[in-house]
Amino acid sequence: MKVSILGSTGSIGTQALEVVRDLRGIYDIEVTAVSGNSNIELLEQQIREFKPHFAAVSDEAAAARLKTAVSDTDCRVLSGCEGLCYIAAEAGEDMLLSSIVGFAGLVPTMKAIEAGVDIALANKETLVTAGPLFMNAVEKHGVSLLPVDSEHCAIFQSLKAGSRGELRKILLTASGGPFFGKSRNELKNVRREQALKHPNWSMGAKITIDSATLMNKGLEVLEASHLFGVDIDDIEVVVQRESIIHSMVEFADRSVIAQMSIPSMKHPIQYAFTYPRRLESKDESVDFAKLASLTFAKPDEETFRCLALAKAAGRSGGIMPAVMNAANEVAVADFLADKIGFLDIADMVEEAMGRFNNIENPSMEDIISADAEVREYMHKK
Ligand code: NDP
Ligand code: MG
Repeated sequence: MKVSILGSTGSIGTQALEVVRDLRGIYDIEVTAVSGNSNIELLEQQIREFKPHFAAVSDEAAAARLKTAVSDTDCRVLSGCEGLCYIAAEAGEDMLLSSIVGFAGLVPTMKAIEAGVDIALANKETLVTAGPLFMNAVEKHGVSLLPVDSEHCAIFQSLKAGSRGELRKILLTASGGPFFGKSRNELKNVRREQALKHPNWSMGAKITIDSATLMNKGLEVLEASHLFGVDIDDIEVVVQRESIIHSMVEFADRSVIAQMSIPSMKHPIQYAFTYPRRLESKDESVDFAKLASLTFAKPDEETFRCLALAKAAGRSGGIMPAVMNAANEVAVADFLADKIGFLDIADMVEEAMGRFNNIENPSMEDIISADAEVREYMHKK
């Protein structure tokens, strides 16, 4: 199989390359293209090891540096959004792993779908902001869409136990993040270092902050609703502190089917790469006796308002999820830059959602303009 990896220098991208290494000799995957944004040194190492035909870097100056660094290889270096779109759609792959972080992943991923390339989707922001257009394109172009987000991969697997007409609800699990059980007062002065310490997962900075605010779970509710065609109100978020149960589905007879494994993103990545086969994994087995117990709780949507805000944006539909997402991306970047406090993130998202008028059945241009306008508005404030 030939795969192109958008965001190969990130947390998902590097774990995907580990999966490619792990599977050598069992299931050979050729990496035909890689991409990054700023980490040119790592991209160069990846080009030397995996020998892709193409590499794309969004930043022009960084692309020029990479071009010089790998001039002795057969890898062609491209730049900008056009470069990302080219490697996503036309570099001749069977599958695209979409693992750029944020809205920047939307256009290249859509180009790949339109070119008939199967998608392994880690970048949830694409589905959140353009869900209906994205899913219509998937259907129109007949591509396979394999979820890489661990919860969605778990739901995808669990749904195989019954028919869609028999499904009652989705139980989307959440770890609760580093601040589970804390009050608003205790969260007032938390800093980026504390928010970046996730108890169960090691991930990129943006999604780690989203996990601390529960925005990640909000984005995942919207993602699940589009992926599986389920109403937002038929998706229940359940805190599962140990991150062993990656999500569950309940059928009409009240039977609940769950997917469990240790918290490792290599599981959903490998499942997407080898689907419908299940191949040997280097991950450890779950040791239930050692684990002794699994704990559950209800999420606190009053303290962690981002979850409720994301659901509200999803219920409104139109451009509102894109408005909510752009405001969150700016707010998280500001929090990471120590410009705002932790609780300001939800306030900024709510303020932006109140400021912009919705547009029903938006086109891709409407969504891209809404994203740009929200960013401009937030930066001017
Ligand atoms: P990282 O921040 O670790 O990596 C992001 C990748 O995207 C890097 O390769 C980065 O390049 C590149 N990138 C960043 N900004 C741009 C841009 N503007 N244009 C082009 N490329 C860009 O993120 P993660 O791997 O953690 O997350 C990736 C996606 O997967 C997110 O949407 C996240 O929500 C989702 N996801 C992640 C999980 C995880 O465990 N990490 C779990 C489930 C979903 P460079 O390194 O050069 O800056
Ligand atoms: Mg997830």
